[in-house]
Amino acid sequence: MSILVLGGAGYIGSHAVDQLINKGYEVIVVDNLQTGHKQSIHENATFYQGDIRDKEFVQEVFKKETINGVIHFAASSLVGESVEKPLVYFNNNVHGTQIILEVMEEFGVKNIVFSSTAATYGEPKEMPIVETMPTNPENPYGESKLMMEKMMKWCDNAYGMRYVALRYFNVAGAKSDASIGEDHDPETHLIPIILQTALGQREYLGIYGDDYDTPDGTCIRDYVYIEDLIAAHIAALDYLEKGNESNIFNLGSNTGYSVKEMLEAAREVTGKEIPAKVLPRRLGDPSKLVASSDKAKSILDWQPQVTDIKQIIKTAWDWHVNHPKGYE
Ligand code: UDP
Repeated sequence: MSILVLGGAGYIGSHAVDQLINKGYEVIVVDNLQTGHKQSIHENATFYQGDIRDKEFVQEVFKKETINGVIHFAASSLVGESVEKPLVYFNNNVHGTQIILEVMEEFGVKNIVFSSTAATYGEPKEMPIVETMPTNPENPYGESKLMMEKMMKWCDNAYGMRYVALRYFNVAGAKSDASIGEDHDPETHLIPIILQTALGQREYLGIYGDDYDTPDGTCIRDYVYIEDLIAAHIAALDYLEKGNESNIFNLGSNTGYSVKEMLEAAREVTGKEIPAKVLPRRLGDPSKLVASSDKAKSILDWQPQVTDIKQIIKTAWDWHVNHPKGYE
C-alpha cells in the first residue's frame, strides 16, 4: 500500500511518515520545505520537493508513483498569523487543496485523510466539543480548514472521492526516541516556547492573557500526543480502505489544561524555574477548546494512549535537549 503524504517534512507530517514506514507502508512525501525540514523525512520515503499549488509538479508525482491514498498535512497553521494574512491562508490551504483534489480526480485516487482543526468550531458554548456542534471559525486559519472540508464533501458527492477530516486539538510531544520533533521558525506554539525558556534560549514565557473566563484566567486547550494523533490517521486510512463513508472526527484527549497549568507541569518535568510574564491576549484565540473524541473511539476504535501531560511534555523536553537548535 502506497501513501502520498503532503507536508511530510513538517512536525506532524514527519511523525506520520515515520509511523507509516514502520508499519510497512510505502511512502511518497511532497513538501515545499517552506516550514518543513528535509532532515526530518524518513530515509526510506521517496521525496519530491515542490508546492502543492504547482499543478504540473503534482501531476508529475501522480504520473510517476502509484498512489493508493493521500494524507494531507500541507497547510499554513498559525492562528495569529492567519488573522493578519488571511489571503496567504486561503491561497496556501484552500487553493492548494483544490489543486490536490483536481489531480486526485484526474488520476482516479479516491481516498484522502486530512488535518482539520478544532478552530473550525470557533468558541462553542458547551464543552467537550462534539462533531455535531455548529462550526463558526473565529480566525482565517479555522475558516480555511472548514472550506477544505466542504470542498471534499462536494468532491465526494460528485466524484465519489472519500475523505476523513481529523479535527485536531493541540498536538504535542515528540517521538519517544527524540529523533524527530517540533521545530518551527519562528516558534509560536506554547510547549516549545516553554521548553526553549527552560533551556535559557528565551528570557520568559509570555502568557497571552490572564483575563479569560476560565478558572485561572488563562486559555484552556486539549493536548493530544503526536504519536497517538498519527495512529488515528492510519486508522482513518484503514477505515476508508474498507469502503466506509466520508467522515469527520475530533482528535483530542478529552482533558483541558490552562496555559498556567502547562507551565507548572513543564517546571516539574524540567526542574527549571521558567520565568513567565502576562502579556495582552493574542488575536483569534478562543478561551477554551476541549474535545470529545468519543466518535473516533467508537468508529475508528481510536483513543490516545499517552494522556499524562507530564509524560507528553517529557517527550518534547527530550527532543529539545537533544536538538537545542532544532534540525540545524
Ligand atoms: N500561548 C501563550 N504564550 C505563547 C504561546 C501560546 O500563552 O507564547 C497560549 C495561546 O494563547 C493558546 C495556548 O497557549 O491559548 C496554545 O497556543 P498554541 O499556539 O500552542 O496553539 P493553538 O491553540 O493556537 O493552536
